[in-house]
Amino acid sequence: MISPGGFESNMYLVNRELLIDAGTGLHPKILVRELHELGIFFEDIKRIVLTHAHFDHAGGVHLFKAAKVGIHKDDAEIIEKGDNSGSMANMFSASLKKKPVDFMLDDGDLIKSGDLKLKVIHTPGHTKGSICFYDEKNKILFSGDTVFSEGFGRIDFPGGSSNEMRDSLERLSKLDVNMILPGHGAPVWGSGNETIKRLLM
Ligand SMILES: [Zn+2]
Repeated sequence: MISPGGFESNMYLVNRELLIDAGTGLHPKILVRELHELGIFFEDIKRIVLTHAHFDHAGGVHLFKAAKVGIHKDDAEIIEKGDNSGSMANMFSASLKKKPVDFMLDDGDLIKSGDLKLKVIHTPGHTKGSICFYDEKNKILFSGDTVFSEGFGRIDFPGGSSNEMRDSLERLSKLDVNMILPGHGAPVWGSGNETIKRLLM
């Protein structure tokens, strides 16, 4: 887990080659330092998968020149067009650099890295193309901005929907989850199911 703080999203490094989310890209020096502590350089990252197209998660993809980028098809256009309102870059007084998407993700896809398998779960509500990554074997959910340790993601941004969020949380509540690794804030250790079910009350 790389968690530079501020407005940056958490980033998760999997098997030293796959990165889940990429931060804003506004503070490359801090990111270089955090990666170096793990013995990693930008070029070591071969794939980035994005939980959604918001600037605080996707703005940094351009720093990783060797990485192929994947995102759910419903959020892909925001990245490809460098859409500053769809990505909320406007809110950060920043602009999203255009980036071609290398692979489109959809519900049920499997992302493999070493012996780890991450299942893509489409969880609209925060954005149209929000996704979570589920490691069934280890019962870990990378939840992006859909689920946090206390609460769920905002639904009042463009593409947000309270009904879709509810359906998404309903779906996630049926998974067997121990650990939740969210897009912001602290992880949830060992009580993932309870955390998700509490959000549905
Ligand atoms: Zn977001």
